[in-house]
Amino acid sequence: EHGVRVYGFHGTSHAYVARTAAEQLGKAPHACNLITAHLGNGASISAIQDGRSVDTSMGFTPLPGLIMGTRSGDVDPALIFYLSARLEMPLAEIDALLNKRSGLVGICGDNDLRDIEARVAAGDEEAKLALDMYAYRIRKYIGAYAAALGRVDALVFTAGVGENSSLVRREACCGLDLLGIALDEEKNQAAVRGRSGPIHSAKSRVAVLVIPTNEELEIARQVVDLLAPAG
Ligand code: AMP
Repeated sequence: EHGVRVYGFHGTSHAYVARTAAEQLGKAPHACNLITAHLGNGASISAIQDGRSVDTSMGFTPLPGLIMGTRSGDVDPALIFYLSARLEMPLAEIDALLNKRSGLVGICGDNDLRDIEARVAAGDEEAKLALDMYAYRIRKYIGAYAAALGRVDALVFTAGVGENSSLVRREACCGLDLLGIALDEEKNQAAVRGRSGPIHSAKSRVAVLVIPTNEELEIARQVVDLLAPAG
């Protein structure tokens, strides 16, 4: 009645990297089970079964799911009632708080992973907490989506953070050996600034791929498909 549904966002990016991952795996898209992590200033992760997205971490709005640059991602919904009742915070302010002043910036004051990484290297505790929480949330979703899919052919990292931060990729995959996910740290560190490719080790049962997203190309391809004469 009110158009409330789980829309999900970053769909063109997830579609592009899923299509490219299938090509790199040498499989038909409909034969692939993938987990695609779009980690930019906004971030979402998607479970793709037989080439179709069956779950994604954003929802009715881009607020839920992963910790982002300025968005909280998942929080207890009762937090909103609490802030409203206890602090008499107006709803518009809670909205701005969760969307614009939470996430990485809320935890440590910076929302750019480059600045956070530099602070972590200098021993800054708040920046380390932000990075740990950020990576933990990604790990948690990878585990949940692996359980939802049953079989995972590849885990894909894309967007500003996913394509450039070997530290985030390492932390996000840390301890996922039980899911058959193991990185080759040399390959992981080499896949930055436009250099893409597989970053998993020989013993990994799941391929881990860094694929630069290309939403413009995906949109163009979908327009061409739409305009193609039927039949
Ligand atoms: P996007 O929204 O995909 O343009 O991603 C932007 C975000 O990517 C920035 O806010 C940074 O946090 C992150 N980013 C870009 N370059 C790097 C880098 N070299 N290392 C770590 N994070 C990066």
